[in-house]
Amino acid sequence: MKYALVTGGSRGIGRAISVKLVTLGYHVLVNFKSNREEAGRTLELIAEAGGTGELIQFNVSDSQQVDAVINKWSEEHKEDYIEVLVNNAGIRKDILMMWMENKHWRDVLDTNLDGFFYVTRALLKNMLVNRFGRIINIVSLSGIKGLPGQVNYSAAKAAVIGATKALAQEIGKKNVTVNAVAPGFIKTDMTKDLNENDLKNMIPLNRFGSPEEVAEVVCFLASGKSSYITGEVISVNGGLYT
Ligand code: NAP
Repeated sequence: MKYALVTGGSRGIGRAISVKLVTLGYHVLVNFKSNREEAGRTLELIAEAGGTGELIQFNVSDSQQVDAVINKWSEEHKEDYIEVLVNNAGIRKDILMMWMENKHWRDVLDTNLDGFFYVTRALLKNMLVNRFGRIINIVSLSGIKGLPGQVNYSAAKAAVIGATKALAQEIGKKNVTVNAVAPGFIKTDMTKDLNENDLKNMIPLNRFGSPEEVAEVVCFLASGKSSYITGEVISVNGGLYT
């Protein structure tokens, strides 16, 4: 069996990625933080798509929890390893920097940046030993161009883009690729407070994107078709730049 792990697979983009990975033959480990019911729904959708998966609960920003849960999984699967990792778990806490409290900053950095570090480190060794792996980081347009009200989120996503490029150079020789996908406005719980009608005029394709449109690109990067691509950031944003 081939294994893939999607952090934040219980909802939104992570759910669409989890379901789409079935088409590449992966048994999908669906990570979630607290929303077991929604994570269970992702498993149902995986089954409806003809695949298999399991739930794996941990908080990506808790390094001890990440190590404990992943080590336990590895102990129970001694012959196997997770060859595809999608670092998708993320939060935003938008506020103008003038009003930004330590907690706004810390929470967003902890989840979006530290989460990438803890989970990737936990899986990296087995990818290197097995000389195959695919790491795909979900970043954001906000981390490329910066967005007002998102100094914390832009900083976290830009940092993950830098880490993507550095890690790609560290481990390319071991046939492990590291890439990032940068969505623009995608219809999920994260953007439900935004009014698509107000914002769509600034998007050349004149609409928000769907989680499935992001999942297509992630699955391309997880597949053999992307074998000579590493250290890249691919935008999925309907043409929305500066
Ligand atoms: P979403 O609908 O709000 O879902 C967030 C997911 O992340 C949930 O599955 C949630 O788990 C999980 N999560 C949050 N904190 C976590 C933690 N500490 N540990 C483990 N899991 C955690 O978000 P989304 O819109 O799908 O976003 C997915 C990714 O795309 C994020 O990295 C986001 O920054 C990025 N992105 C989104 C957009 C957009 O327009 N939607 C644009 C650019 C980038 P629970 O269900 O357990 O809470």
